[in-house]
Amino acid sequence: MPNTLTPDFATGGAGIELIGLSKRYAGQRDPAVDSVNLQVAAGELVVFVGPSGCGKTTTMKMINRLIEPTSGSIRVGGRDVLAMQPDQLRRHIGYAIQQVGLFPHMTIAENIGIVPRLLKWSKARVAQRVEELLHLVGLDPAMHARRYPRQLSGGQQQRVGVARALAADPPVMLMDEPFGATDPITRARLQDEFLRLQRELRKTIIFVTHDFEEAIKLGDRIAVLRERSHIAQLDTPARILADPADDYVASFVGADATLKRLALHSVGEVTGGAAPAAPGTPVVAPTASLREALNAMVAHGVEQVSIGAMTLTFAQLCAAARTAGAVPAQSVPAAEQASGLVHNGG
Ligand code: ADP
Ligand code: MG
Repeated sequence: MPNTLTPDFATGGAGIELIGLSKRYAGQRDPAVDSVNLQVAAGELVVFVGPSGCGKTTTMKMINRLIEPTSGSIRVGGRDVLAMQPDQLRRHIGYAIQQVGLFPHMTIAENIGIVPRLLKWSKARVAQRVEELLHLVGLDPAMHARRYPRQLSGGQQQRVGVARALAADPPVMLMDEPFGATDPITRARLQDEFLRLQRELRKTIIFVTHDFEEAIKLGDRIAVLRERSHIAQLDTPARILADPADDYVASFVGADATLKRLALHSVGEVTGGAAPAAPGTPVVAPTASLREALNAMVAHGVEQVSIGAMTLTFAQLCAAARTAGAVPAQSVPAAEQASGLVHNGG
């Protein structure tokens, strides 16, 4: 089958390789994307973060050939994407965008089933897949499958967009600010669910955002882009926070890098003592981040939180913040980084 993309055997994903990839739009003096080189390992989630107009969308759309490159090459799962038929290629690459792009005259179930139908799955298999996906993204099929997009909230439409991108179980997902149009609370919830999904599915994902906090939360690695998609730094969130490559990257990190690093680790990762908690000590879940634990301390005016029978003190939290993310780059084996095994744990 010449027009499929085979996932890597160890994950649900396929590696992506961009080699000298450039795009010059007609009538433009400068290229929109100038000679990008990037390797994304199978099962890895790489976030592109950079200001509006820096070429994020153009770079991403060349991968599924919604935009044709001017020069360079793209390999997915070892295959030369530019030698494939674009419409065939796109059936094997999930694509989710901020504007969602659901068809208004189709029900939610019909929208999600578009690619499986194009791939000529049986009606029963499509119906089963749609139901499974609605559950997966936290929507009740009985309530939502037969509704039309306008009958759903913005956040629910975003979930449908993600479900549609996952429908044919593609090894690669391209996501262009998919949660951008939602309010902060909905966005945080969508991000959490998306991370939970990705831990199971292990797709190869390129995720575009202009929100650095979102990049830190979601990325195995982050590519900080400057104009023309030049990569200013490509590394794990912890190492970008601990050691920004230059002033440009530092401007994304901001003055509160230590606080941002607290968001990368859960209280469950930091061993506290089994001291009895004083009355009024706030309780946090083991999955809460160190930043949330600090927030609880500040909000209650106390210097400890309890996690079940355990207690985490302010001093322990500070010690963890100073060590977390300060791991020198060479202490993580290169092979482990390249295979995407290094997760941010958040
Ligand atoms: P981003 O997604 O990072 O905001 P884009 O990839 O959309 O950036 O755009 C990169 C640059 O290319 C911008 O300067 C934009 O104005 C330009 N551009 C995007 N699409 C076109 C087009 N169809 N024709 C000409 N210029 C374009
Ligand atoms: Mg864009």
